[in-house]
Amino acid sequence: MPEKALNIMLNIVLFGPPGAGKGTQSQKLIEKYQLKHISTGDIFRKHLSEGTELGKKARGYMDNGNLVPDEVVIGMVGETIKESSTTAKGFIFDGFPRTVAQAEALDELMEKFNMKIDGMVALEVPEEELKTRIRERGKTSGRADDQDEEKINNRISVYKNETLPVAEYYTKQGKFAKVDGVGSIEEIFGEICRKIDNFK
Ligand code: AMP
Repeated sequence: MPEKALNIMLNIVLFGPPGAGKGTQSQKLIEKYQLKHISTGDIFRKHLSEGTELGKKARGYMDNGNLVPDEVVIGMVGETIKESSTTAKGFIFDGFPRTVAQAEALDELMEKFNMKIDGMVALEVPEEELKTRIRERGKTSGRADDQDEEKINNRISVYKNETLPVAEYYTKQGKFAKVDGVGSIEEIFGEICRKIDNFK
């Protein structure tokens, strides 16, 4: 990777609880900023549907709304970054990092490829609204973890207990910004872009 890559690349973490709208906003962001989207949930679902070894490892955790072990996720993200580190203009991480250990590993991976995380944008949505959105998505997503009340509750509590400390990790690095995740898709997108442009 050339020296100037640090300056011209844009690497963003889109953060928030399940149902916050990260997937929807990521689609718009990759188009605007020409970034490569790395959604660990999407990659795992692909492995599940293809019945790979990785998919088999992840299935039990995903079915119950628990986190897949860090080493499995980190290895998978490392491979994905490696595949496109020379071609991508930057990355948008969606659903990753979800633990402080993953955030630390991401910093190490970035350094290895002479890149850095520019900032994290967190989407904030009240819990009841999240549950309503997830149930609604479950009608069409076909995702078992979107359709079962117990699994939905578990995913939200896993987020609070294991994932929220990641926001603190980026706050300490001066790379944290939050956006109100309730409103129209366009309004929220505009707000996220303003935060991203401030990171640059
Ligand atoms: P998502 O589509 O981001 O809600 O992810 C769906 C499921 O995949 C999660 O409930 C976890 O079981 C698993 N998963 C996705 N990303 C991660 C991650 N970064 N760390 C651990 N497990 C993950």
